[in-house]
Amino acid sequence: DSSHSGYTTNRPSSADKGEPLRVFNLGSKIVDGKVVHKLELNENNLKKILLHPEVKDRPVAIVSVAGALRKGKSFLLGFLLKYLQAHERPTGGDWLTDDDVIDGFEWRGGRHRVTTGILIWSKPFIRVNKYGEKVAVLLMDTQGAFDSTMTVKDCASIFALSNLICSVQVYNIMQQIQENDLQHLELFAEYGRMVTEMSEHPNAKQSRLIFLIRDWAYPSDYQYGEMGGNAYLREIMQSEESQHQELKRLRRNITSCFPNFDGFLLPYPGKAVALQQSNCVLVKEMDFNFIKYIKDFMPYVMAKDKLVPKTIDNKDVIGKDMLEFVKVLVDAMQN
Ligand code: GDP
Ligand code: MG
Repeated sequence: DSSHSGYTTNRPSSADKGEPLRVFNLGSKIVDGKVVHKLELNENNLKKILLHPEVKDRPVAIVSVAGALRKGKSFLLGFLLKYLQAHERPTGGDWLTDDDVIDGFEWRGGRHRVTTGILIWSKPFIRVNKYGEKVAVLLMDTQGAFDSTMTVKDCASIFALSNLICSVQVYNIMQQIQENDLQHLELFAEYGRMVTEMSEHPNAKQSRLIFLIRDWAYPSDYQYGEMGGNAYLREIMQSEESQHQELKRLRRNITSCFPNFDGFLLPYPGKAVALQQSNCVLVKEMDFNFIKYIKDFMPYVMAKDKLVPKTIDNKDVIGKDMLEFVKVLVDAMQN
C-alpha cells in the first residue's frame, strides 16, 4: 500500500501507452456507374490527438512515413515508437534490446486488404528542439494502394494532405528509386500546391523529405545509411545535358517543391522479417546489419535541428491551430 506516501505508484495502463487512431480514410462510392473516391475525416479522432492537453497549445511536429502498401512502413514506425518511448523513460538505458518485439503500428505479411488513409499515434512525445522549446511530436502512418483497384491519382489527396501537415516526410521505397516514384511525388506536391492556394494558406512551410530506401542491395556503389543515401539521391536527382526534357523538368519541379531532401539506405532486414515466419519476431532474429542502420536512422530523423514544428507565415503551428488548418485543407479538397 503506497497511499501513506502521498502518491500512488500505479504502472501506466495500456491506454496510457497510446494507440494508432485513424484520422483519414479514402472511401469510395459509386456515382453514375463510376467509382468515386472521397476523403473522409474522423474529426473525433483528430480532436483527441490535437486537443490533447500536451498538444493543444504547443508547437506540433508530425513525423510521417508514407508510401505504397506492404513495404514495411508500419514495421519502421514500430521502431520510431520504441525510440520515442524510451526517451520518455527517466531511467534511460538502451532503446532497443535483443529481446524486443516490434509492435505498435500493426505490421503483417500476406496480401490482405488494408484501407488507404492516415493513422496517427494517439499519444504525443514531448521533445526539446534546438532553441530549448518543447515540441509535441506525433507519429503518422500514411498509406495508399498503388495498384489497379486504386490508382495513384485516387490516393493523391491523402499523400498531399500528409505532406502539407507534417514536418518530416519519410518517403518509403523498396529497393531503388524509380522514375514513377518521382512522378508520384510530383503529383502529390502539385495537388498540395493547388490545395494550399485554394485554402489561402500558401505559406505553410514545406516538409523535409527523406527518401528511405529499403532492402538496398548495392552497398559497394553507395554505402548504407545517410552518406550513401545522399550520394545516391544526388545521382538520381541530377539533370544531365543528355537527359530527356521531361526527366529534367520532373527533377527541377521536385527540387523546387521540396527544397530540403535527403536519402537514407537501409539493408535487408533478414528472412525472419521479410518472410514473416512468425507473428512476433525478436530483434535478435533480425539481420545484425539492419539493426545497426536502424539505430542510426532514429536519431537521424529525430535530430533536434531537423525536427522543427510546422510553420505558417513563419509562425509555429500549435495543436489547436493544426486542427483548424487540417479542416481548411479538407474543405479545399472537397471542392
Ligand atoms: P506497410 O503496409 O507498408 O505498413 O508494411 P508492413 O510494415 O505491414 O510490412 C509488410 C510486410 O513487409 C511484412 O510482412 C513485413 O514482415 C515485411 N517487411 C517489413 N520491413 C521490411 C523490409 O525492410 N524489407 C523487406 N523485404 N520486408 C519487410
Ligand atoms: Mg501499414
